[in-house]
Amino acid sequence: MDKPKIVILGAGYGGLITNKTLEKLLKSGEADVTLINKHEYHYLTTQLHKTGVGTATDRQIALSIPELINVNKTRFLKAAVSTVDIDNQEVHLEDGEMVKYDYLLIALGFEVETFGIPGIKEHAFEIRSFRSSKAIYHHIKKQFTLYKEDQNPSRLTFVVAGGGFTGIEMLGELADGLPKLCKEHDIPFEKVRIVAIEASPSVIPFFPKQCIEYTTEVLEKRHIELITSTKILECTPEKVVLENNINVPTQTLIWSCGVKGNTIVQKWGLPIEKGKIPVDSYLRVKNMKNVFSIGDCSLFMKDEQSSLPPTAQVALQQAPICAKNIVDSLRGESLMTFEYHHKGSVASLGLMAAVGKVGDFRLSGLFGAFMKQVIEARYLFNLGGPALIIKQHVGVSREPVKMTAKQ
Ligand SMILES: Cc1cc2nc3c(=O)[nH]c(=O)nc-3n(C[C@H](O)[C@H](O)[C@H](O)COP(=O)(O)OP(=O)(O)OC[C@H]3O[C@@H](n4cnc5c(N)ncnc54)[C@H](O)[C@@H]3O)c2cc1C
Repeated sequence: MDKPKIVILGAGYGGLITNKTLEKLLKSGEADVTLINKHEYHYLTTQLHKTGVGTATDRQIALSIPELINVNKTRFLKAAVSTVDIDNQEVHLEDGEMVKYDYLLIALGFEVETFGIPGIKEHAFEIRSFRSSKAIYHHIKKQFTLYKEDQNPSRLTFVVAGGGFTGIEMLGELADGLPKLCKEHDIPFEKVRIVAIEASPSVIPFFPKQCIEYTTEVLEKRHIELITSTKILECTPEKVVLENNINVPTQTLIWSCGVKGNTIVQKWGLPIEKGKIPVDSYLRVKNMKNVFSIGDCSLFMKDEQSSLPPTAQVALQQAPICAKNIVDSLRGESLMTFEYHHKGSVASLGLMAAVGKVGDFRLSGLFGAFMKQVIEARYLFNLGGPALIIKQHVGVSREPVKMTAKQ
C-alpha cells in the first residue's frame, strides 16, 4: 500500500518547525514528507532589517534548508507553488511539476499591504523577504555612489514609513549601519538624514507609555527625525508626499506599514476571510479534514471578534500542534486544539538597545538587546540545537547567497 503523502508549502517559521516536528513524530516508513519552498534557504524574517543595512552576513539570515532538515526523512523541493487543486489533491509548481498529497499544510506567509497608496508598489522598498531586503542594501550603496557624482542630498535621505515594530527595528539598524557605509564611500555621516513617518501620534502606539517614551528618546538621540500624526499620500521616485503639504525629497522609502496574507492562496478555491485562510481550532482549513494552514496566511480567531496577529511567535506555537494533528489525522486518532499563549514582544533598536514587554516586565536598553538575542538564539536552538547557534555566530560562511527565484 502507498504511504500517506504529507506536503508542506513554505519553509518559513511555521512550515519548517512543522517539518522538524514531523521528522520526530513519524515512525520510520509511516509517511512520505515533502517540503516545498521557492528558495534553497530559510530566511530569518525577524532579522531581515539587518540584511537591508548590511549589518549581518547573508548566511546569518538565509540558512540552507537542506542543512536544516533530515534529508533521509524529508524530500525538499526548491520550487515556487503556482496552484493547488483541492479536488484532485495536487500541488502544481511553476516549473510544471505536480506533487500529490494526502495531507497538505499551507504555510506561505505574508505579503506587504500598501493600502492602495499611489506609488508605494512601484517605488517603495519592502522588508518582505531576504531578496527584497538585499535589494534595499544594494540600493543604499548605489545612492552613496551616485551622490558622489551629483551631490543630490535626496540620495542621502532614508525614509522609513511605519513606526510599528518592524519600522523601529529598521530605523535602529539604519542608525547602526549607515555610519559604516558612509565611511566606505567617503561621505560624512552628518549629511545623512534618517526620517520616520507614522500616522499615529507616536511610534509603537500599542505599547505602554514608558516604552513609547523610551523608544522616542533613543531614536531622537540617534538623530532620527520623527514625523508623527501624519499620513503618507504618495510616493514618487524623487519624493514622499505627506499630509499638510509636506514633501520629503528622497530616493529611498522603506515601507513597513503592515502585512496581509499571501494572496496566492486566494485563487485556489479555499475559503477566504479577511484575505486569509480561516482555520478551525485544530488548525485545519474550515470544513476540510486534510488541509491545514498556519502562520501569516491563515486566520485563527481567538474569540468571536479578533484573530491572532501575524507574528513569528504565533506561527512557531502553531507548528508543533499542527504537526501532531497531521500525524494524529493519518493515524485516525483524536486531534489537539490549539491555544495561543502570548509570551511578550521585543523589538531591537540597533545592536545595543531594544524595547518590549515580556509578561509584566518592561524591557529596554542593553538588557532588552540581550533578551532579543536570547529570543533569536532560542529559535536557532529549536531548529538545529547548540551546534547551529555556534555556527551562526562564529562559523558562518561569508559567501553571498545566490538568489534564483523571483521575489
Ligand atoms: C522585519 C520583520 C521583523 C519581524 N519581527 C518579528 C518579531 O520580532 N517577532 C515576531 O513574532 N514576529 C516578527 N515578524 C513577523 C514574522 O516574521 C512573521 O509573522 C513570520 O515570518 C510568519 O511566519 P510564516 O511561517 O507564516 O511565514 P514566513 O516566515 O513568511 O514563510 C513563508 C515561506 O513561504 C515561502 N513562499 C512564499 N510563497 C511561496 C510560493 N509561491 N512557493 C513556494 N514558497 C513560497 C517563502 O519564501 C517563505 O519561506 C517580523 C516581520 C518582519 C518583516
